[in-house]
Amino acid sequence: MRLILLGPPGAGKGTQAKILTEKYAIPQLSTGDMLRAAVAAQTEVGKRAKAVMDAGQLVSDEIVNAIVSDRIDQPDCANGFILDGYPRTVPQAQALTGMLKDKHAELDAVIELKVDETALIKRMESRVAETIAAGGTVRSDDNPEAFRKRLVEYREKTAPLSDYYTGTGELKLVDGMAAMADVTAEIEKLLLPA
Ligand code: AMP
Repeated sequence: MRLILLGPPGAGKGTQAKILTEKYAIPQLSTGDMLRAAVAAQTEVGKRAKAVMDAGQLVSDEIVNAIVSDRIDQPDCANGFILDGYPRTVPQAQALTGMLKDKHAELDAVIELKVDETALIKRMESRVAETIAAGGTVRSDDNPEAFRKRLVEYREKTAPLSDYYTGTGELKLVDGMAAMADVTAEIEKLLLPA
């Protein structure tokens, strides 16, 4: 099962990916998590990405394409993967199409979580509050200013992917405002034929 989850920041892609990962026994590939790990490890990529991420902007296509291409070659991706936060631009989607073709692999579905943007800032604020209450560390880009920038980046650069994947016939829409379990059920229903 090779799956892409699309949707703006805070739409619930990460949450759904974690649930699906267990059900299908395939890894969640979050480019955000991979980049945060690179920042924490102070690798060359991490050093280049940090300021861009903190400002809520997108890291270059070249960097993320290389990270994803290497990651999907790992043995744990042999039965598939769930891409969470990638692709985020049309050139990334085109690069992914090329990568999969080279690797003789196909996508099973692209699922877009449709959400009401005004609800997203509230979700981000509760995510921050929950993280603090649980004694965790808040993401450096989880603040209203960077979050708004991430939404603008999404509208300008990522939203056009809906058209891209409508064109390939792979896009499926799910109501991301529904309760978490209902969103999961809806996704699983869409994946049944796969
Ligand atoms: P996320 O955890 O998916 O919200 O990603 C956090 C940040 O990492 C984003 O705001 C971007 O700065 C960067 N990032 C993650 N995935 C990508 C991607 N596919 N393309 C460019 N930048 C990305």
